[in-house]
Amino acid sequence: MIDDNKLMDKIISLSKQRGFIFQSSEIYGGLKSAYDYGPLGVELKRNIMNEWWRSMVHERENVTGLDASIIMHPKVWEASGHLAGFADPLVDCLISKERFRADKAPIPNVGDDINITCADKGQAKDYQKAIEKRFNIELTRNGKILTGLKVIEKNKVGFFKEDTQNPAEMFDFPGYVSPTFGSPFLSEEKQFNLMFRSQIGAVDALGDIANFVNDNKHLGKDEMKQGIEKIVKDSAVYLRPETAQAMFVQFLNCQQTMSMKIPFGIAQMGKSFRNEITTEHYIFRSCEFEQMEMEFFVEPGTQKKWLEYWRDKRLEWWKSFSNYPDHFIYRAHEKDELAHYADACYDIEYKYPWGYDELEGVASRTDYDLKKHAEHSGAKLSYFDQQKEDPETGKMGWRYTPYVIEPAAGATRGLLVYLIDAYHEESVKDAKGNDTTRVVMKLHPRLAPFKVAVLPLIKKDGLPEIARNLVDQFMKAGINARYDEQHAIGKRYRRHDEVGTPYCLTIDGETKEDNCVTIRDRDTMHQERISIDDAVNIVMTRLNQ
Ligand code: ATP
Repeated sequence: MIDDNKLMDKIISLSKQRGFIFQSSEIYGGLKSAYDYGPLGVELKRNIMNEWWRSMVHERENVTGLDASIIMHPKVWEASGHLAGFADPLVDCLISKERFRADKAPIPNVGDDINITCADKGQAKDYQKAIEKRFNIELTRNGKILTGLKVIEKNKVGFFKEDTQNPAEMFDFPGYVSPTFGSPFLSEEKQFNLMFRSQIGAVDALGDIANFVNDNKHLGKDEMKQGIEKIVKDSAVYLRPETAQAMFVQFLNCQQTMSMKIPFGIAQMGKSFRNEITTEHYIFRSCEFEQMEMEFFVEPGTQKKWLEYWRDKRLEWWKSFSNYPDHFIYRAHEKDELAHYADACYDIEYKYPWGYDELEGVASRTDYDLKKHAEHSGAKLSYFDQQKEDPETGKMGWRYTPYVIEPAAGATRGLLVYLIDAYHEESVKDAKGNDTTRVVMKLHPRLAPFKVAVLPLIKKDGLPEIARNLVDQFMKAGINARYDEQHAIGKRYRRHDEVGTPYCLTIDGETKEDNCVTIRDRDTMHQERISIDDAVNIVMTRLNQ
C-alpha cells in the first residue's frame, strides 16, 4: 500500500517526467493553478472525453450534442444569476443557498419580526430542521412560514420561544435579510465573482475610463467605482464558468432541428473557467478546466425517476474504467446543502488520497433555468406534447416548461481520478536477481495514451524496418501505436509500464526466421510468441475485452 500522503507527490512527479501534466508557463516560473496537458496527458484526456461522448451521445438516440462558444451574450449570465456581484458585494443565505446582492437586500427595522417565508410547507420543514441543526434553535412553523425571530438591535437578531418576552438566543446579522426567503442567516459579504471578465469590441474601455476619471475628480471612491463599472459593463464579456447554460439557451434550436421528444438530452464538453478562491490538490480544482455536462429535459413529475437513472448510469460509467470500482460512491445532498432551485442532488464521489470528495454532480434543477432564460430573453422555452392531457384543463395537448436533470462531470478531475486509480508499485527482481520497484500505470486499455509499443530488440539487421512496418499496420487499424528503440529492452518495458501502455511487441533476431514477435502484457508481465500477421487482430481483440 502506498502512503496516501506520498501518493499525490508520486503522481505529480510521474506526470511531469512522463509527459502527462506540466506546470503552465514553467520557464517563466509557472502560473499558479494552471496546467498544461503534455503529449500523454492530452491523449488520456481525449480518451476520457471521447468515451464520455460515446456513452452519452453516440450510444443514445435521445441525446444530441452541442459545441457552444465559450464567450456568450452577457445576458445569459444575468439570467443564470452568475453575473450578480461583479461590482456589488455578494452574500449567500446559509440555509437556502440563495446568492444575492447585499445592497439590494431588504432591511428590517429594530423591533420587526423576521418571518422566513418558504416556497411551501415541505421546504419550511426542511429549513426548520436545517436551522435547528446549524444554530440549535427550533423556529415555529406556521404553514410555509417560520417564526420566532425578531430584530433587537441594528445588527442583532433574537430568538424568542413562543409567548416569551426575553430572547433565548441572540445572533449577529448584517442588518438585512435574504430577498426571497427573508433569512437573516447569511455569509460574510464577498466582493467577488467567479467569472473571468474581458472586453469585446474595437474600442478600448481604458480611454473612456480615463476621460471619466478626469471629468469626475470630485467623486468619492464608491461613486467613482460605480461610474467605472458602468463603462466596463457596456462592453464586458465573460468566460463561461460552466458549459451548462448553452444547453438551456439552445434548447429550442436543438429540440426543433433534431425533432427531439421529451425526455431528451443535450450534451456538451469543453473548457470552463472559474476564478477560484482556493485552488487545491493539483488539477482537482484549477481556474481553467474541462467539463462534460448534459442537460436532460423531462416531464414535470418524472424528475425523481430520471435523477436516480442518471445517478446510477454515471456511477456505473466511472466504475467501468477503474481498478477499484468500490472507490466510487454517491452521496445525496442534505436538504440544507441544496441550491434553492434544486429539488434533489447527488454527488458522485471518489476516494482521493485526502478522502472522499466530489467528482460529478447529478442535480435535479427543476424548471428554474429554462424559466429564467424565458423571462430574460422573451423566448418561449417550453415544450408541447400533443399526446398528453393538460393536467389543468383536462384537454389533449399539454404545453409545459420541462424539468431538468443535469449530470455535470469534470473531465480534468476525472483524469486525476484515473491517474490515482492506475498508480501501482510492485516489487520485482531485476536481471541480476535484486529486488526493485516496478511502477506501473494500470490505466484501462481504452484510456491508455498508447495502446501498443513496438520495440526492435536492436537497431540493426532489419529489425527497425519490421517494427516500423508493424506500427504502420496498427495506425491503419486506428490503434495508437508507438515505435521505440531507445535504451535496453528492460528499460523500455519499464518506460511503457509507467505510461500505461497495455502491450509491448518485441521484434528480435528470430522474427525474420519464424515471422513471430513477443507480446508482453503490462499488468501480468506475461510474454508469449505470436505470429506477426496476427498481431493487429490479437491486440485489437484484447483491447476490446
Ligand atoms: P466543487 O464543489 O468541487 O467546487 P461544484 O459543485 O462547484 O464543484 P459544479 O459546478 O457542479 O461543481 O461542476 C461540475 C463538475 O465540474 C464538478 O463535479 C467537478 O468535477 C468539475 N469542476 C468544478 N469546478 C472545478 C474546478 N475549479 N477545477 C476542476 N474541476 C472542476
